[in-house]
Amino acid sequence: MPQLQRIVVAPQQIQGQQIRLNPEQIHYLLRVLRLKVGDRFVAMDGQGHSWLAILIETAASAPIRAEVLEPLISHTELPVMTTLVMALPRGTGFDEVVRQVTELGVSTIAPVISDRTLLHPGPQKLERWRRIAQEAAEQSERQMVPTILEPTPLVKYLKTSHTPALKYICITRQSAPHLLTCLHPLPVPPHPIQIAIGPEGGWTAGEIEQAIATGYQPVSLGSRILRAVTAPIVALSLVAALYETGDDRVVEN
Ligand code: SAH
Repeated sequence: MPQLQRIVVAPQQIQGQQIRLNPEQIHYLLRVLRLKVGDRFVAMDGQGHSWLAILIETAASAPIRAEVLEPLISHTELPVMTTLVMALPRGTGFDEVVRQVTELGVSTIAPVISDRTLLHPGPQKLERWRRIAQEAAEQSERQMVPTILEPTPLVKYLKTSHTPALKYICITRQSAPHLLTCLHPLPVPPHPIQIAIGPEGGWTAGEIEQAIATGYQPVSLGSRILRAVTAPIVALSLVAALYETGDDRVVEN
């Protein structure tokens, strides 16, 4: 299947062949993902079900809705959209991160430039990361290739990222609950997850404060300091393990 954008919908939004999109989802599909009427996308209920859907235009009262074309059978995708927000590490470290988190099921990778980021990549880097993601998705037999966003200053990313999600910022040397404790149990329907990882020098106090102000919860990944390139692998492995062992014992929220 070609690379299609994905959106999470609540199970009750799917009624027969119709998907009743809410205004936020319509905004996301049309303005953020820039889809047009007639474009296809994948609707997921976050519980392991997904559908190939098409955007259609209807009466003026509800001008845009979506119709299910067919259910998709996917055994290799995480049932929850997971975004890695990562301050670019030095050198070529990010290449390996892109490869490994793609294998682990990440949906979106948002490279950010933070106060202590040393790498300021040129446009050919983004192309390279997208190629690596494509290869890793194929190699790991995924149906979807993760989206890699353009590198953006952290502050700008925080201001423009309005997608409702469970947001976590991984921090060191301060007391914070473990990511696993925060993820478990998962709410129904599972919200998209965003996990932010800092550069080699860590986040500044100001960056952590700004992230908290935009809905991020500070979390720990354990008692040891991990390298910047190790931390995302640990975080993604926790998300995948929770969902894939059926150990996500869900609760109504
Ligand atoms: N130089 C910093 C460590 C930076 S590690 C220090 O000495 O404290 C790079 C990034 O990996 C951190 O910003 C954080 O996002 C993540 N990280 C590494 N180990 C972690 C841990 N045990 N818990 C949470 N995040 C961690």
